[in-house]
Amino acid sequence: MPGEERFELDLHAQRVLFGAGRIDDVPDEVDALGMRQVMLVATRSAKSAADRISERLGSRVVARESEVVQHVPAANVASTTQIAVETGADGILTVGGGSATGLGKAVAVQTGLRLVAVPTTYAGSEATAVFGITGEQKRTGRDLRALPRVVIYDPELTTGMPQRLTATSGLNAMAHCVEALYALGANPVTEALALEGVRRLAAALPIVVDSPGDLAARGGALVGAYLAGLSMEQAGTALHHVLCQTIVRLAGGSHGPTNAAMLPHTIGALRRRNPSTVDAAELARDLARRAGAERLRDIGVDESRLEDCVQAAAKRPQLKLTPPPADADEIRALYQAAW
Ligand code: NAD
Repeated sequence: MPGEERFELDLHAQRVLFGAGRIDDVPDEVDALGMRQVMLVATRSAKSAADRISERLGSRVVARESEVVQHVPAANVASTTQIAVETGADGILTVGGGSATGLGKAVAVQTGLRLVAVPTTYAGSEATAVFGITGEQKRTGRDLRALPRVVIYDPELTTGMPQRLTATSGLNAMAHCVEALYALGANPVTEALALEGVRRLAAALPIVVDSPGDLAARGGALVGAYLAGLSMEQAGTALHHVLCQTIVRLAGGSHGPTNAAMLPHTIGALRRRNPSTVDAAELARDLARRAGAERLRDIGVDESRLEDCVQAAAKRPQLKLTPPPADADEIRALYQAAW
């Protein structure tokens, strides 16, 4: 009933530029923020884009870090922060996937420096203020200092993504949208974002997996990834992410392939709860197959650890909060089907 709607929403102020060739707008955006001494954080995969940006920024680049490690290790954050401080950087510019953005976010949280992000995958991290640092003192949280002030999406930077990364990263974005439809913080605004995100991803991903250079489809997928990040930040995550994180933590799968192998099954579970949820299960299965990640057994997951995963996942509070709660039997059935 519309009269019964009740929700909270924290929308952030972020400037987004989108379009082919947009990386050439980086210098104007940096100037508009008043940044004079930029630290460039760019993965090696983004070297040519970073070189092009660096050339245009000229002497405004005071340091460049290309050591970007997955899951944002504390040591990587500490060394990058030290360089930023020692070179007197007054802003951070990241070029790369979720790991590069994640490193920039962590340094921004440590230093208070403002962040500009140029994403090259479908991770969607740039749309959120969520950051994480992995180390002895593991920290995750939401901090507005981690939110990039400006995001520049240039689909041309994504045409070099290999097929497997295209599929797994795209499925990760799709998972963000699907979960945003029913997670605890879901509301009419996140629903609109998530549904449009799934629509864009479902239309574009099958094309870009086969034709990586199709710029229009690359653009569609990138818009979908942005919507996925926005909707996930507001709505939160639930069943699918809990099941995947547990596998990665206890049974040896890595993040992208585990997400791909689980997604068709969790979409099925969600549709049993709410039949009006988008049916992207077949599409997800097809993409997972093309990424070589159709089944958990194919991606290095240890079958003997699955029961431990069932017990650990069933205890996670997130699963008790999203109705109807998933119990150990349902989780076991989902893992076995994905195996
Ligand atoms: P990634 O950034 O780790 O990149 C994976 C690999 O692909 C790297 O080797 C990278 O160099 C390479 N690569 C990146 N862009 C490329 C391109 N255009 N062409 C060719 N190679 C390229 O992976 P990801 O999937 O982008 O990001 C995943 C990470 O992001 C995870 O650690 C995840 O936790 C994090 N994440 C965080 C949030 C958040 O809100 N904080 C949201 C989503 C994801």
